[in-house]
Amino acid sequence: MILGEVRGQSRVVELLQRALQGERVAQSYLFAGPEGSGKYATALALAKAINCLSAPGKGCPECSSCNKIDEGIHPDVRTLEPEGAKGNIPIATIRKQVIPAMAMAPHEARARFFLVREASSMLGPAANALLKTLEEPPPRTHFILCSRAPSQLLPTIRSRCQRVSFQPLSPALRAQMQGDEEHAEKIHELSEKITDVIEERGLDGILSVAKVAGDRNTLIAALAQCVQTCHLAARSAATSADLPRAQLHARRAAEILNSLVAIREHNAHGQLALEHLLVALRGHPLPSAGAAG
Ligand SMILES: [Zn+2]
Repeated sequence: MILGEVRGQSRVVELLQRALQGERVAQSYLFAGPEGSGKYATALALAKAINCLSAPGKGCPECSSCNKIDEGIHPDVRTLEPEGAKGNIPIATIRKQVIPAMAMAPHEARARFFLVREASSMLGPAANALLKTLEEPPPRTHFILCSRAPSQLLPTIRSRCQRVSFQPLSPALRAQMQGDEEHAEKIHELSEKITDVIEERGLDGILSVAKVAGDRNTLIAALAQCVQTCHLAARSAATSADLPRAQLHARRAAEILNSLVAIREHNAHGQLALEHLLVALRGHPLPSAGAAG
């Protein structure tokens, strides 16, 4: 994947593209965001963009540099992965793989990259060993620390990195990125139908939606998508100080989440649970000011 193909993270992509154009790519980034939001793929895409031989600043599917990065065999683009049963990155790995490289120029790359797949897997000693390098990275060297739990990192590590926040991707988009277009389309359709019924406050749509609820996996993904939509709506209402709307969307999110748990964790009957949900949501009508959203 090249940077321009990263999906669902337009703000991140714009920020990185601006940095590339202005040659202001930071030496240390913290890519923070939930599991499956594309942090590591974006980190690889940035390494490709800087080092691409045929489309510098963008990345391509064909030059030797981009190909080596895709195959994980570029000598200057290395990933530190959690190791062993405990899934930590030990200090020995930092000492062996990172620190000696700092005394040498990159082998062939314009800029060398060290990617950390999950930075919270570096415990204290490893993190401290890396910290010294982050304080004064040599030229043409970049670190990208990916983490779904940035609050678990040493504050000194966090403060050395430019933080880039990744949004959670919707279940439909995740299915699409995994190449399952058909499932993505079903999730999208069903979640839109559910949202329509909630917004219109009508009983009529409820049974028809419940009837087309589809298979269990699609229903679970569609409900997860609705939870996400409500959370985003709650956050945006809270940001614009519309607290009644924020509360309403938060209550809806909680109701939908309850049904999701009932179906997924307690094997509740999908169609019945969905009917109950839609009836329950009618108890949380929109405030009269400023209709749908
Ligand atoms: Zn290329």
